[in-house]
Amino acid sequence: MRSSLLCLTLLAVAAVVANGEDTLPSAQPCRAASCSIPECQCSSTSNSLGLAPKDTPQFVTLTFDDAVTINNIETYKKLIYDRKNANGCPIGTTFFVSHEYTNYQLVNDLYNHGFEIALHSITHRSNQTYWARASYEDIAKEIGEQKEQLSYFSNIPISEIKGVRAPFLQTSGNPFYQVIKDYDLLYDSSRPTVTYRNPGLWPYTLDYASTQDCPIGPCPTASIPGVWVTPLISWADLEGFPCSFVDACVFTPNHDDEDAWYEFILENFERQYDGTRAPFGFYIHEWYLSIHPAVLRALNRFIDTITKLDDVFMVNEKEVIEWTKNPVNVEEYRTKNCKTISPSPCSSPHVCTLTAEHNGVEYWMSVCTACPLVYPWLGNSLGK
Ligand code: ZN
Repeated sequence: MRSSLLCLTLLAVAAVVANGEDTLPSAQPCRAASCSIPECQCSSTSNSLGLAPKDTPQFVTLTFDDAVTINNIETYKKLIYDRKNANGCPIGTTFFVSHEYTNYQLVNDLYNHGFEIALHSITHRSNQTYWARASYEDIAKEIGEQKEQLSYFSNIPISEIKGVRAPFLQTSGNPFYQVIKDYDLLYDSSRPTVTYRNPGLWPYTLDYASTQDCPIGPCPTASIPGVWVTPLISWADLEGFPCSFVDACVFTPNHDDEDAWYEFILENFERQYDGTRAPFGFYIHEWYLSIHPAVLRALNRFIDTITKLDDVFMVNEKEVIEWTKNPVNVEEYRTKNCKTISPSPCSSPHVCTLTAEHNGVEYWMSVCTACPLVYPWLGNSLGK
């Protein structure tokens, strides 16, 4: 009797969480007086210290999405390993990693080179409706449980995993963001903005309603305190159409024309750098660089250029939020200590051959741990 009562109680609690959307308080308009850093930040086209552009560090965030594999690691090594910003600190890049086909030994290597490792779901299912309608439980399995999975198999500290990007930038609104909070993550990087390109929108928290446009709904309507959003400030293609991913721009320079691509990147960068200095995002998938070597060379040249500028900093995405919480002017930022990189060894590397239960496919999985018993998947993220 007692245990069935306990069961009922647990079920009741689960129901409240499952229908979280109904029970969450809706977000009220943000007033600066009741929302202040470091905990809270209203959505705004002004930075959190109210600095003039010339005193504001220009952050550049390069991100790559999807599985990390023996193929795409070669591009990453050539493009970003062992490079420094003008102030002598190592550059950052954020990897939004999805589980299927990922080589966790290589994720460990990326982490040990100072790059940020973030979440991009276990299945990366290519059905956008699934993501748009995903419940709290779905996202808890896809994203919440991926946190432990990614940390475990690549042997990186779980506390270092802070960021999330939804596949296809398609969140399900409130439940998605509630999972980010409940699993002790810091930020989401799934929301493009077309309206706030110039001046650009800075990162903000979901304590209060944001002013951001919602090109890919549903967007959160609830107050979810302490969860940050780093808006993806869209680029303008050659005809002025917005694109949040560089590889999704339609009217681009010829893919063989390195000079034109370099100019195209610079033009988008300068919209921020010569404007209010909102963070400049370069969001791309590696395959695009791999099939267009001239674009890769142009990006490489762009990195050469910005890492010579003493007011530009190529950083991990979470560093932009750290700055937004505790902002300093460019002078001070330039001379602060570099982020510390504490390498975490891949001490027990294994290559495992596993047949997945959900589709019967045989996977090779490189891990920094013992091999899992079965191919890890939804609901069994550690493959026990
Ligand atoms: Zn993806």
